[in-house]
Amino acid sequence: MASGRVDGTRRLVYLGLGSNLGDRDAQLRRALAELESPKLRLLRTSGIYETEPVGFRDQGWFLNLVGEFETELFPKQLLARMQRVERAMGRERTVKNGPRVIDIDILLYGTSVIRAEELEVPHPRYRERRFTLAPLAELAPEMRDPVTGRTMAEMLGALKGQTARRRSAE
Ligand code: AMP
Repeated sequence: MASGRVDGTRRLVYLGLGSNLGDRDAQLRRALAELESPKLRLLRTSGIYETEPVGFRDQGWFLNLVGEFETELFPKQLLARMQRVERAMGRERTVKNGPRVIDIDILLYGTSVIRAEELEVPHPRYRERRFTLAPLAELAPEMRDPVTGRTMAEMLGALKGQTARRRSAE
């Protein structure tokens, strides 16, 4: 389902979740549960990856996963929903790229390309990050990035460095 279009109104979206503070497993599970609703249905999750921090490196390792959802929410509705979940879980914005109980990003929204001030889709940095590409390539290796046309597996294969160890299947 590389196009991401399920029918006229529903789309496949891939959300990246990460946590490196507190009970990381519990927080990933809670975020998935709180995101889910009739208009945002969780179809599959990747395994959980233990990943080294990128950017601000003096912090604990993250647990990351990607969820594949089918949604009837428009992108900005989806973003608002994700931000409500982050706030409800006690997310505080302090250090950029610093520790967080939960981080939720829209990686891909069907084949849409969105460049608004508060929302860029595909996520502007997901192509360089093993912690997003490894779980995406696990779920949908042949899916193509709508901007570059490259598959998830190709982009992952081209990455150098950054540790991401797959820990367990969900
Ligand atoms: P962060 O602090 O890394 O979670 O960044 C969140 C900010 O990035 C929010 O204010 C969003 O408006 C913005 N943003 C831009 N593109 C995206 C995206 N694809 N997914 C999530 N947040 C995004």
